[in-house]
Amino acid sequence: MNEFEDKLNEIQDNLEKYIEIEKMFGNDTFFSSVEFQQKQSEAIVDESEKAKRLEKIALEIKNCNKCDLYKRRKNSVAGEGNANADLVFIGEAPGREEDMQGKPFVGRAGKLLTKIIAAMKLTRNEVFIGNIIKCRPPNNRNPYPYEIKACEDFLIRQLEIIQPKVICTLGKFATQSLLNIETPISRIRGKFQDYRGIPVMPTYHPAYLLRNPSGKKPVWEDMKKIMKELKMHE
Ligand code: URA
Repeated sequence: MNEFEDKLNEIQDNLEKYIEIEKMFGNDTFFSSVEFQQKQSEAIVDESEKAKRLEKIALEIKNCNKCDLYKRRKNSVAGEGNANADLVFIGEAPGREEDMQGKPFVGRAGKLLTKIIAAMKLTRNEVFIGNIIKCRPPNNRNPYPYEIKACEDFLIRQLEIIQPKVICTLGKFATQSLLNIETPISRIRGKFQDYRGIPVMPTYHPAYLLRNPSGKKPVWEDMKKIMKELKMHE
């Protein structure tokens, strides 16, 4: 080993000792910023991988004919948003506007949902918005049990990919279908439930709020609970 290599090894040893001591005294800002950058790039890779997997499911949904709803759809509505979202909103099924555009919650109720999301200081691009049923039932009738069964695998897989920290179910139908319960929404609204280890906040559907504006206050209370769970500041 030459003199230069000796010196280099000595510097490396000293540096390692210095890092260890600094870390012991809690000064790891520099190192955590390096770790933070690494985590960020891992998250980006992770997010684009997740997005690819969600796109694959969206394609399956587009070609799905497991129930009769495919016959009358203009577009399927797989859901949209951030593949790495901490928060997922789940509604019932696409309505007329959603069927025309192939996007979730873009009609009147959707505009209200967008406002609720903005009030939480989030954007639609930061959350994921989906539905229990991916194709519009004729005249917005309630989906039949066999349609729910045919569609449920898609949402299960979407949630497995996204792995959100909180799910917010919008209205009775989404709440009861996701949680596989028959409890009235009035009894569990505002109280965290559990879906495979993920906290679920059942709240009123925005379409209900359009008919009953007095429901907006409790919904905002529910959103504040979600923000607290996600450690967001109001
Ligand atoms: N209502 C829903 O439940 N979902 C939508 O996507 C639109 C309206």
